[in-house]
Amino acid sequence: MSQIQDLTHVGDQASDQLTHRYTDAMMNTFGTPQKVFVRGEGAYLWDADGTRYLDLLAGIAVNSLGHAHPYVLSAITSQLSTLGHVSNFFATPAQIALAERLDEIVSATWPTSTTSRVFFANSGTEANEAAFKITRMTGRTKIIAMEGSFHGRTMGALAVTHSAKYREPFAPLPGDVEFVPYGDADALTAAVDGRTAAVVLEPIQGENGVVVPPAGYLSAARQITQRHGALLWIDEVQTGIGRCGDWLASGAEVGADIVTFAKGLGAGFPIGACVATGATADLFTPGMHGSTFGGNPVAAIAGLAVLKVIERDGLLANVRDRGQQLVDEITALNHPLISGVRGEGLLRGIVLTEPIAPQVHAAAMGAGFVINAPRPDVIRIVPPLIITADQIAEFTHALPGLLATAQHQTTAKDNS
Ligand SMILES: *Cc1c(COP(=O)(O)O)cnc(C)c1O
Repeated sequence: MSQIQDLTHVGDQASDQLTHRYTDAMMNTFGTPQKVFVRGEGAYLWDADGTRYLDLLAGIAVNSLGHAHPYVLSAITSQLSTLGHVSNFFATPAQIALAERLDEIVSATWPTSTTSRVFFANSGTEANEAAFKITRMTGRTKIIAMEGSFHGRTMGALAVTHSAKYREPFAPLPGDVEFVPYGDADALTAAVDGRTAAVVLEPIQGENGVVVPPAGYLSAARQITQRHGALLWIDEVQTGIGRCGDWLASGAEVGADIVTFAKGLGAGFPIGACVATGATADLFTPGMHGSTFGGNPVAAIAGLAVLKVIERDGLLANVRDRGQQLVDEITALNHPLISGVRGEGLLRGIVLTEPIAPQVHAAAMGAGFVINAPRPDVIRIVPPLIITADQIAEFTHALPGLLATAQHQTTAKDNS
């Protein structure tokens, strides 16, 4: 801790002083930070003023094992003190072993024996950028993407991201992308043809407010793309690696041609992965794509540690149980401001009957809960996969009070 203080000149600076330093030093892409956090342990965070928070956001579905997980910590430390980086002119055991594990996970979703291969990147947008470039190797250029989608902020990932607010300032984007309504198999049938290189979709649209497609939609997407020789590219950046109660939210048998991962895979260490199956895995040839950091052994060992702890500690079952507990306890509140809870496992959206999610978010932060509001009427809950029953209950018990505070603030504002 003292070395951190030396290097960051934190001294005894409080949150507001640090926030000033932030706004002076940083580009204004994220607005004013809500808090300056100095420490984390398990499912808890501490801010610069010493206040403790229950972290129900987990760095946006990233800190899958919470903060400072001992197994991840020791794996990263021992890799870093053994070998920290070599570039992709060379290979490392950690990178090879993580590639094998991810290949296994993706190959297992195919009905017949299929090989998979990985390209490692450093983020979700880069994993999708790699996927986008693979689709061009098919000789076709047309991509069908979904209304409400989010795939990242680089130009290629942005081209398949739907939000006008994110896209329009940067037009023209890499072209030949058509958007269709999410969850609508008929619309997909009508849009996909022999010119289609790929269909890209999220199993659940997290950024769009945890939107779940109808049952059977992903299988339909598989059949439709197969019929026309188009690739199915599934973005599991937010949903994958246990977040929804299984390795893949897209299920055990969809058999996508490309699956992308990032967020939860590194438990907070930056990593992204683009996994392709069958012939699609061989579309890139030497020189066609690359990354200096991608597959870095420290990032790779973090990924291996995450997969190991999820398995060793039975966390997939915990995700399903805690997710169901959250739904059950919130449903039992029978609260007039809550219309329902959607999502899977520990990717959940609490849907409100009024657009007061920003006020609920503020009330929650004030009461020591980190959450976020991806839409004006949706609260997103994406806690670490290690969250306990008591911690979930702590939030669900506090929720009526948070809603009351939020409603009170909204009414006060309306009357002023
Ligand atoms: C967060 C996210 C991305 C982008 O990941 P970054 O690491 O922020 O680049 C892409 N796709 C989905 C579904 C995401 O949730």
